[in-house]
Amino acid sequence: MNYNKKTIRDVEVKGKKVLLRCDFNVPRDKQTGEIASDKRIVASLPTIKYLLENGAKVIACSHMGKPKGEFKKELSLAPVAKRLSEYLKMPVKFANDVAGEESAKLAADLKDGEIMLMENVRFNPGEEKNDPEFAKKLAAFGEIYVSDAFGTVHRAHASTAGVAKFLPAYAGFLVERELTVMGDAVDNPKRPLVAILGGAKVSDKIGVISSLIDKADTLIIGGGMAYTFLKSMGKNIGKSLLEEDKIEMAGEVMRKAAEKKIKFLLPVDIAIGDRFAPDCEKRIVDIDNIPDNWMGLDIGDKTIELFGDAVKDAGTVVWNGPMGVFEFPAFANGTKSLAKIISNSNALTIVGGGDSTAAVEQMGFADKITHISTGGGASLEFLEGRELPGIACLMDR
Ligand code: ADP
Ligand code: MG
Repeated sequence: MNYNKKTIRDVEVKGKKVLLRCDFNVPRDKQTGEIASDKRIVASLPTIKYLLENGAKVIACSHMGKPKGEFKKELSLAPVAKRLSEYLKMPVKFANDVAGEESAKLAADLKDGEIMLMENVRFNPGEEKNDPEFAKKLAAFGEIYVSDAFGTVHRAHASTAGVAKFLPAYAGFLVERELTVMGDAVDNPKRPLVAILGGAKVSDKIGVISSLIDKADTLIIGGGMAYTFLKSMGKNIGKSLLEEDKIEMAGEVMRKAAEKKIKFLLPVDIAIGDRFAPDCEKRIVDIDNIPDNWMGLDIGDKTIELFGDAVKDAGTVVWNGPMGVFEFPAFANGTKSLAKIISNSNALTIVGGGDSTAAVEQMGFADKITHISTGGGASLEFLEGRELPGIACLMDR
């Protein structure tokens, strides 16, 4: 895939109507409906401010949650418009429909340097179906299209890809940054490239593992998915997480790693628990000594050192997936220690994945990481080397 895409810096936006796809899919409090974190709104500000300061008329749109094509009050973007206007210190006009009459009226009244937001695009059933009629209707709001919602670029929806059939399409700053940093890490990394993969399931990450085994110099596997690999080596893993149907694939990955002579690391010691609970009994054991009824819930100190050593001389580190059940304080040490090691490294460091990102942020290491990808699923598919519809549809440079 070509990552060298035209951005908003490559086009004169003055006086132009800009259809801007944002990622305003912010978490909401289930009880009160209030915005629980406005991180994504804040992240969208540089692109919006650039467009407004350069005299564009901004028609913003986004999805929120999964309303399945119908109006759902709790998934309305109205609170987002309000919050956004507080940050911009100017009105953000809000249309209660999706590319309907009210949207059209507000858009017609926009002056240069003004912004409006329409209602949740997923209230329209045409959005997720990438219905060309709906895409055309949306596209009619702009003279150019700007994509700044990296979190949804792996979806071929009307507002993320369909509209680009009708409008010249550019990347906003958020998408641009993802493309330059992650694109380089995948295609032209500063070596050695160390990939650290963890999290719950091999099946979620098998695409990334297969892709990175062709690119990385070191592949490190931790977290719940390590046990399927250990099992395929013939180890007794007790009651640890196992994907029976992926044992063979794990073996194949390891054979391939040996063939390619890349460094392949698995845990050598682990923290185990006697059940899956935060207050379970805990022990640290070598990987050959897992008792039958216990389960591995974190990596141990020797493993942290082993993984840490591999990171030390890295040129690029890509990390996706926690090293243990970090939600249980007693088993957060592996993830925490690795986050610390990575944040202190001189390498270009990239963290992707919803839970890994949350872990790094919770632990306070976020600003010492070169790049934290804003898209969970999207960044995984990016690392898999798959073509992303919301990127492919943007104009090449
Ligand atoms: P990400 O969202 O960063 O891609 P995943 O969703 O793949 O990560 O995995 C995160 C989950 O993996 C966490 O909820 C964590 O508790 C779980 N996990 C990590 N290690 C283990 C383990 N040893 N056993 C069970 N679950 C684990
Ligand atoms: Mg996750």
